[in-house]
Amino acid sequence: MARGRITGTALSEFALIDRIRERTAGTRRGVALGIGDDAALLDLAPGRQLVACTDTLVAGVHFLVDTPPAHVGWKALAVNLSDLAAMGAEPAWALLALTLPQADAAFVDQFAGGFAELARAHGVALVGGDTTGGPLSITVTALGNVPTGAALTRAGAHVGDAILVTGTLGDAAGALRLATTAGGRMAVDAALLARMDRPTPRVAAGLALRGVATACIDVSDGLLADLGHVCVASGVGAEIDADALPLSAALRVRFDPVEGRELALSGGDDYELCFTLPGGRAAEVVGLLDHAGCAATRIGRIVAGAGVRALDARGKVVTPRHMGWEHFSQ
Ligand code: ADP
Ligand code: MG
Repeated sequence: MARGRITGTALSEFALIDRIRERTAGTRRGVALGIGDDAALLDLAPGRQLVACTDTLVAGVHFLVDTPPAHVGWKALAVNLSDLAAMGAEPAWALLALTLPQADAAFVDQFAGGFAELARAHGVALVGGDTTGGPLSITVTALGNVPTGAALTRAGAHVGDAILVTGTLGDAAGALRLATTAGGRMAVDAALLARMDRPTPRVAAGLALRGVATACIDVSDGLLADLGHVCVASGVGAEIDADALPLSAALRVRFDPVEGRELALSGGDDYELCFTLPGGRAAEVVGLLDHAGCAATRIGRIVAGAGVRALDARGKVVTPRHMGWEHFSQ
C-alpha cells in the first residue's frame, strides 16, 4: 500500500486492485506467486538473464489528458515492451504502479482492458504493483528474459555498419502536432492517432535481431536523439539519408515532405527499433523481418567520429529545428 490514499468514494483501494486483477487475469508459466502477497515470486529458467525496465507516463506530459483510458493502459505497457524489444528480450511479467486522482471504476476498467489486450497479445502476466491517490500517473515495470549473453545493446555498432529502422517514423509526432495546433484529437486522422495512442512494440523484430544486429535502440525520443545514444555507447558517428526515411502514407497526406522529414528525424513516441548490422547483411535481414511481419528500411551508415548527421540527396546537412524530446530542457 502506498502512503497517499485514494480519495474517491467509488472504490476502495482493494476493490480497485481486484478489478485490475480480474481484468488482466491470464496464466503464464513461471508465476509462482502473483498479485496478492507482499511481492511476486517468479521462476527464472536456467541459462537466461532477467531483463528489467520501467517507464512512467504522466497525464498531460506523455499523453493528452483527454486520451481514452484504454489507450493509456495500452501505451503504458507498450512503451515498456518496446524497451524489452530493443534488448532482444522475450517479455514475461509486468508490475503496475498507478496513481489516480479518483478511484473511478469506469476509468480503471477501461484502463485495465487496454493494458490486458496488449499483455495477452504478448503473453505478459501482471504480477503486482501499487495503487495510490494523486495526479494521474502510471509507472509500469516490465520484466523479460534473454539467453545469457544474447541481449542487444546500444554498444557494438561498427564503422561501415548499415543503419536500419522498423516501420515508419514521425507518425506519433505528426498526430501530436495536429492535435495541439489543429483543434484537438478530433482533428487527427485515425491512422496517425492510433500511432500516438496505441504504439506497436516491435517484440518479434527484437527477437529476430538477436545474433544479427550489432546495436539496437527503440526510438522513443526521436531518431536523431536515440541514434545519438547508440553512437555515444558504440564510440562511432552516424550518417542518415534523410530522403530514405520511411514515412507513412497518412503522414505524407497531412505534412509536406520537409515537415514529414523533420517529424521523422526528431519527433518522439514512434517506438520503432533502430539498429545496426554489417552492411552486407542488410537486404537479408530486411527479408527476415518482413517474414516476422515487420517492415524495415535501410536509412544510413555508421561512420568514424561522433554524432549523427542527416544528409539530403545532394549531401547537404539537414538540420531540424528540434533534436528530440528531453525532459528538464527549458
Ligand atoms: P503492500 O502494502 O504489501 O505493498 P499492497 O496493499 O500495496 O501491498 O498491494 C497488495 C497486492 O496487490 C500486492 O501483491 C501488489 O503487488 C498488488 N497491487 C497493488 N496495486 C496494484 C496494481 N495497480 N496493479 C497490480 N497489482 C497491484
Ligand atoms: Mg506488504
